[in-house]
Amino acid sequence: MTALPPIREVIARHGLSASKALGQNFLLDEQLLARIAAIPGDLSDRAVLEVGPGPGGLTRALLKAGARVTAIEMDRRCLPALAELGEAFPGRLSVIEGDALKLDQGAAMGGEPFAVLSNLPYNVGTALFVKWLSGEQWPPQWTSLTLMFQREVAERIVAQPGTGAYGRLAVLAQWRAEAKLALKVHRSAFTPPPKVMSAVVHISPAEAPAGVSARVLERLTEAAFGQRRKMLRQSLKSVPGAREALAGLGIDETRRAETLGVGEFVALARRLTA
Ligand code: SAM
Repeated sequence: MTALPPIREVIARHGLSASKALGQNFLLDEQLLARIAAIPGDLSDRAVLEVGPGPGGLTRALLKAGARVTAIEMDRRCLPALAELGEAFPGRLSVIEGDALKLDQGAAMGGEPFAVLSNLPYNVGTALFVKWLSGEQWPPQWTSLTLMFQREVAERIVAQPGTGAYGRLAVLAQWRAEAKLALKVHRSAFTPPPKVMSAVVHISPAEAPAGVSARVLERLTEAAFGQRRKMLRQSLKSVPGAREALAGLGIDETRRAETLGVGEFVALARRLTA
């Protein structure tokens, strides 16, 4: 491997001024990037999908950790910098120019299991997260998700019942996966610094509870948390069979959504899954 110039120099040489519209806040600290790359464990010879490599700070850390990286980037200005990085790690980096929301990930990863790592663009982060965690096929093709979010979103993902942060994202992340807050990142670590703090969340698939449709669970949490201050008998009015399911499980229908544990949502969804 040839010596690589500091990422700040790469940004300057390629004129990669950060674009607000593309959610660009770059990470330059190599130690921090190496810590993020280490979160999923040993990456030697593992396939990794990185969303939004930008000038390639995290990409470089992943390659140094031994990963084979497929990176999708929307900003074509970043492609020459990424091509240089690819030359330093021959045959280990493949870059796709495009929108990650439209990517057929299975095809892009050649049907192989893969870890996802990303310092996500905030504007598409939640949409991608929902896409990764939804879907009936489980376990998914990805083996783990290691994702940078605004800290407030990260806290919603790992939230426990009875807290203000607990809602759809927590149930979605926790009903058949383990989600933990792996690293808090100060806003000053980014160039330019965003207004809010960030955190990296790490998610690994767990066994899916039997007899539960992901779609049914999603509809249930959407209704329940759509009116989170209301009692379940009111908020679940639009879900056929919900009152009977509550009664059958001995769940008091005067409770509110945020008091129901993930296991209770799963039990309700099982009753409602045809
Ligand atoms: N990974 C780099 C880092 O850590 O310094 C850049 C992170 S920056 C927060 C997000 C990156 O995602 C930007 O490079 C941006 O151009 C890219 N991006 C934004 N929307 C995207 C999309 N829909 N698909 C792919 N990349 C996107």
